[in-house]
Amino acid sequence: MSDVGEAVCKTCPRHCRLADGAIGFCRARRAEGGRVVAANYGQISSLALDPIEKKPIAFFHPGSNILSIGSYGCNLRCPFCQNDGISQHGVDEVPCRAATPVELADLAARLKDDRDNIGLAYTYNEPLVGWEFVRDCAKEIRARGMFNVLVSNGCASEEVISELAPLIDAANIDLKGPSQDYYGWVGGDFKAVCRTISMLHEAGCHVEVTTLVVPGRNDADADIDAIAAFVASVSPDIPLHVTRFFPRWRMSDASPTPVATVRSLADLARRRLSRVLVGNC
Ligand code: SF4
Repeated sequence: MSDVGEAVCKTCPRHCRLADGAIGFCRARRAEGGRVVAANYGQISSLALDPIEKKPIAFFHPGSNILSIGSYGCNLRCPFCQNDGISQHGVDEVPCRAATPVELADLAARLKDDRDNIGLAYTYNEPLVGWEFVRDCAKEIRARGMFNVLVSNGCASEEVISELAPLIDAANIDLKGPSQDYYGWVGGDFKAVCRTISMLHEAGCHVEVTTLVVPGRNDADADIDAIAAFVASVSPDIPLHVTRFFPRWRMSDASPTPVATVRSLADLARRRLSRVLVGNC
């Protein structure tokens, strides 16, 4: 139980304990009157119409576009973050404009016929730290007969995934490494991510998984084999994207992953999975 004046956030496994008015580790949630609320609710930092393959999602309405939104904040600290400008900063540092779920769903619907838009994607920063906005937008999108696409690190509580899973049509979830050792490095929870992948698949969501291969960190054959083995245990037909690291944020001095390494690891994963793609090569 939390002390009087404190609230515990149950959105992700960090379980931040916050004094009234305090901001959580993700910078996106704030304690207010004994509850933890999404401070980034309706705050849009990024809005674009993207090819769905860019998410990356390869086997759900290929060739279509999807209106994609992001806000700010993330509950992980991957040193190689590719979106640190919005994921690793808070409200005072990320320019945003306000939008309601109805406004975004109406925009998505307007883009349906002339721009091949199939729905709304929650992406760019970590969407689940503001899961209430995902839920509210997803209901509006469904009401217009369109699709919801989640692009996430998957590090969220069982309760959050239970509530969202029936609303999500397709997802790309990162499985960044093969163990809690790796997740300790990026500040996440390996079991929670595996649970998210399983729950979304069991709920009937189209799930694809992405692993970024970081040199010296998860580029051993055993690393990718363990990742492929877990994905295959959920379903051998889940697509796995094996992608190439490029120097970013706190790893801007590191070398990119050799293309040959990415291709060789993808071949290894193909022994267990029917659909393995390489990315950034
Ligand atoms: S979602 Fe944010 S505030 Fe909540 S537990 Fe995770 S890091 Fe902390």
